[in-house]
Amino acid sequence: MAEKIIYTPQKNNETKLRKKERVTYITFPALDQYQEKLVNAFSTRKGGFSKGIYKSMNLGLNNDDDGENVFFNYREFSKAIGINYNNIVISRQEHTTNIRIATAEDRGKGLVKPRDYDAVDGFITNEPGVALCLLFADCVPVYLFDPRQEAIGLVHSGWKGTVGQISSKAIGMMQKTYGTKAEDVICCIGPSICQECYEVSADLFESFSKEYDAAEMKQIFMTGKDEEHYQLDLWKAIEITLLKAGVRAENIHVTDICTNHNPDLLFSHRFTKGKRGNLAAVLMLKPEPPEDPELFKNLLPSFIINK
Ligand SMILES: [Zn+2]
Repeated sequence: MAEKIIYTPQKNNETKLRKKERVTYITFPALDQYQEKLVNAFSTRKGGFSKGIYKSMNLGLNNDDDGENVFFNYREFSKAIGINYNNIVISRQEHTTNIRIATAEDRGKGLVKPRDYDAVDGFITNEPGVALCLLFADCVPVYLFDPRQEAIGLVHSGWKGTVGQISSKAIGMMQKTYGTKAEDVICCIGPSICQECYEVSADLFESFSKEYDAAEMKQIFMTGKDEEHYQLDLWKAIEITLLKAGVRAENIHVTDICTNHNPDLLFSHRFTKGKRGNLAAVLMLKPEPPEDPELFKNLLPSFIINK
């Protein structure tokens, strides 16, 4: 039986569901057209080994799931999307606007090697084979690709990161570091919570009103069930940020799948009241360097299992 997926607000073909052996994952057609140069993927819950609330493809590292199963999940997901898990660079995200310039030296950090950085909510790189990876369950992944300078960025934009303009900060860093022009950047706003599902309190309205003008606020917030509540559209807020940074409207692609609308397919913090695993966003420039078996031999999988 075909799986029922709820598209929000309607199917606009901005995401594509793919299946490779046991693993189901999502890609963006806007980035798929550069598949010679780029791997783009967002995981789903399907095709992993974890049990219970983590069923089955939990890629979260800071929870009570069985470390060995998480390791198997990374191995299976990486194989499906066509990358070597030794090249994954990952962080512990803390809803900051800290962005790290990732290099070949960072490959494996946070997953198969210890990290020497913390509280990073975004990465940029222009080095092939550095697989940028961030974790999600309702917050918004934003994928950035500059095809001219061949540079990429990936950020974690929950409400705090969105108020903090982390997406435009990443573009600014790409500009400074790689000579990126905002008008060249292709942006994909990934699977996350939609406005209909995202009820917030009045203090969030206050926080956003310091960054967005009245006309923009009208586009971002709808009145909620009472005066104390609003429905927040993070996708629209990020889109406005990207436009103001100089990204072309036709280069902004917004997910048509909401996490909270699809709790069987995707982990949703809201839907499960926090009892959930994590989904992973991955973005990597090709080609991957040949594997150096000595480099990771003794580090794997002990690091993740003893997490
Ligand atoms: Zn929704």
